[in-house]
Amino acid sequence: MATIDTTIDDLVDSFVAQFPPRSTDPITFLGAQFDAGLAWAHFPLGEGGLGATPAEHQRVLERMAQLRAPSADGRNVIGYGMVAPTLVAHGTAQQKQRFLRPLFTGEEIWCQLFSEPGAGSDFAALATRAELDGDEWIVTGQKVWTTLAHEAAFGLIVARTNPDVTKHQGLTAFLVDMHAPGVEVRPLYQATGEAEFNECFFHEVRIPDGQRLGGVGEGWPVSITTLMNERVSIGGTVPARGSGLIGEALKIFVARWSGRRDAHALAVRAELMQSWVRNEVARLTNWRASDLRKAGTPGPEGAVAKLAFAEENQRTSELCVDLMGAEGMLYGSDYPHVRPKEAAMRGGDMRKAFIRMRANSIEGGTSEVMRNIIGERVLGLPGEPRSDKDVAWKDVPRS
Ligand SMILES: Cc1cc2nc3c(=O)[nH]c(=O)nc-3n(C[C@H](O)[C@H](O)[C@H](O)COP(=O)(O)OP(=O)(O)OC[C@H]3O[C@@H](n4cnc5c(N)ncnc54)[C@H](O)[C@@H]3O)c2cc1C
Repeated sequence: MATIDTTIDDLVDSFVAQFPPRSTDPITFLGAQFDAGLAWAHFPLGEGGLGATPAEHQRVLERMAQLRAPSADGRNVIGYGMVAPTLVAHGTAQQKQRFLRPLFTGEEIWCQLFSEPGAGSDFAALATRAELDGDEWIVTGQKVWTTLAHEAAFGLIVARTNPDVTKHQGLTAFLVDMHAPGVEVRPLYQATGEAEFNECFFHEVRIPDGQRLGGVGEGWPVSITTLMNERVSIGGTVPARGSGLIGEALKIFVARWSGRRDAHALAVRAELMQSWVRNEVARLTNWRASDLRKAGTPGPEGAVAKLAFAEENQRTSELCVDLMGAEGMLYGSDYPHVRPKEAAMRGGDMRKAFIRMRANSIEGGTSEVMRNIIGERVLGLPGEPRSDKDVAWKDVPRS
């Protein structure tokens, strides 16, 4: 009997034989991949999927990577990992039909407009407001840290539509055209010297009611779908064994240290091995989680993956620059104020990666917040005191 992997492998192999990655333009390849249900194999038929399991989808990704197929994830990281599952869970048939395919091909890049200057970890406290005017919503407010907003055609925005109820109840989600009149995107430069993210101002921006995602006042459950998928998308990937940052560390060790037998070199080797084991444990844990994951929104175990991802990336990139010795300090940027086309969350020059990875414990939810989620939702510990839980948003004191 054929195993799941051979069935999925057969499907992918015959698809790739029809559209050889080397001779097929990436947009054509990805469009055909969507139509074949191999975009997100665990999504429903007609929505880029085959109604398969998340584990089968994982196998599609592995096989596509082995065959060097173009990836949809790289350029449209927010769209691919966060917006698409939210659209599938909460979108109308028309919205799915309109947005999913160009999102997957990368013809339309997406951004996530959740965080605000006064609402990050406590994102439900947000103040951007949306008011209904006929069959349009008028949105006014400020978002911040918006990754790739400068590249985005559309954004998933959450706004306050009712200030008279508690903070979680008064939210509504929308799909906003990032080129609509009144949208202003300004770069925010990171420690690397690049501006992957932005601050976004909404000056009475009109959004048709047909681009509301979910019901009025249902922005919180819609956002939870995005956030749960975000954690898995950032931290829950299953890279090839020994690849990524730990692969870089190994390469640097082999090039610079492997011939040495002195005490310092042995200590460095031991540190590298410990790091290798921790990375492998995280990889296998993610593998097991993706194997067990049911279709639908991932559970709180995504917080474990996100926390481990941030901690290991930071430790491993630090190890890389340590292994490079004095050269590790020579970060070659002259801070040219670049606005990159992709978010470099995982790799590149290790000196730059070392600086970039500092943000891993903030983006997609901080490590402190991940620990809170694990404490409360995985371990069942008592919850934090929440003084604003039963108070109308407009009555909650804020600065
Ligand atoms: C590189 C990068 C990319 C990002 N991209 C996006 C994006 O595309 N879209 C988007 O909407 N947002 C984005 N963000 C924003 C990110 O989600 C927020 O920065 C994050 O949620 C933290 O919010 P904050 O910055 O307001 O910090 P705050 O919430 O003000 O937190 C400040 C400190 O207090 C701690 N803290 C807060 N609450 C608690 C608590 N209850 N218990 C314990 N400690 C607590 C935090 O851990 C942190 O150390 C990005 C951030 C970064 C760094």
